[in-house]
Amino acid sequence: MKIVVYNLGCKVNQYECDSITKVLREKGHIVSEELEEADCYILNTCAVTNEAERKSRQCVERCLKFNSNAKVYVCGCASEHNPAQFIEKDNVTYVIGTANKMTLANSFEKVGVDVAEISKVYEDDFASTIERTRAYVKVQDGCNKFCSYCLIPYVRGRSRSRKIESVVKECQRLEKETKEIVITGVDVSDYGKDIGTNFVELIKALKDINCRIRLSSLEANLITDDLLKALSELKAFCPQFHLSLQSGDDSVLKKMNRKYTTAQYLDKVNLVRKYFKDAGVTTDLICAFPTETEEEFENTLNFLKEVKFSQVHIFPYSKREGTVAAKMKPINGEISKERCKRAQEVALKTKHDYLQSMLGKELEVLIEEKEGDYYAGYSREYIRVKVKNAKENEIIKVVAESIDCDTIIGKVGE
Ligand code: SF4
Repeated sequence: MKIVVYNLGCKVNQYECDSITKVLREKGHIVSEELEEADCYILNTCAVTNEAERKSRQCVERCLKFNSNAKVYVCGCASEHNPAQFIEKDNVTYVIGTANKMTLANSFEKVGVDVAEISKVYEDDFASTIERTRAYVKVQDGCNKFCSYCLIPYVRGRSRSRKIESVVKECQRLEKETKEIVITGVDVSDYGKDIGTNFVELIKALKDINCRIRLSSLEANLITDDLLKALSELKAFCPQFHLSLQSGDDSVLKKMNRKYTTAQYLDKVNLVRKYFKDAGVTTDLICAFPTETEEEFENTLNFLKEVKFSQVHIFPYSKREGTVAAKMKPINGEISKERCKRAQEVALKTKHDYLQSMLGKELEVLIEEKEGDYYAGYSREYIRVKVKNAKENEIIKVVAESIDCDTIIGKVGE
């Protein structure tokens, strides 16, 4: 049978899709990760914003355009949040939520809605496969933080951690198959609390893994001397720190129920730069959170400049029913668009300044694809780099020579 396994969400969803794909291939199915003609579709949906949920619904229609007789199986955060929005669609055969996703690899005879209770312990039945130059390894699921705008704790449940031995075993298998592993989770800052360990111990256990190791999104409060020391002792750590910010104003951070001030956040960034001078510091930002004033937004713009982020992902606030922020007074849509645009302008400038600071330096680049006359990939700091005379899926040294938009053009080093 030809099956499409399609991810609409975050890196955690991607890891789960990779695991479902692996099992289906072992069973002899032809599996694609692109939306194309197939007998059956498995969709791992997202509910982080209204737009993500709309796209998840729209994806069902797209599948049926390819094959109006196909069976569609839906799982993930959007179907956990509201299963009815999927099951009422033609040909949607089976809907589950965020629990028991691996059963989809075996459930072709199942029909209806079966949104089980969200697991309270880590579901350790995933095992990723490699389709890309980098592999994702999920170490934690769920979240206890309840940021006031976020639906994730409601659809993914409480924080739960994967055992260190299980993570190490998967990384040992993957180091032979891939050049880069990304450690991911919904809130890795909470890693280990439920199983009597912590994230530093996990990183220490990975010290002999012989390939690049990158971390996905982190909460700034996770950054400590102990963690940075453990990271610097890895064989090939990628010094990119995606420290989720969301607002650069203390009063907005409080309303968001984020557990840090801008001063504490800045201290953590400075600590990162003490250990990794040229680290890429990237973040997420929400513009026009309910009640955000012009002055509070200006504070955010100034904070972006102060931190000098190498990349900022900017999102307009999206109201999620059932969250605390959904009851707050919203900001007008035009103001929201205008704030996103202004934040984007500042973010482009800080990114350009960061790229400028890297010119003349030698970067270690994992080449991922050919693009015209160039080969493109990412440095350890997560700078996109283009170079001539390279090979896909190889790590090479590149001297940064010039900047083209958001990319460094380099030449192969000695
Ligand atoms: S830390 Fe906050 S934003 Fe992140 S998943 Fe948890 S509640 Fe959502």
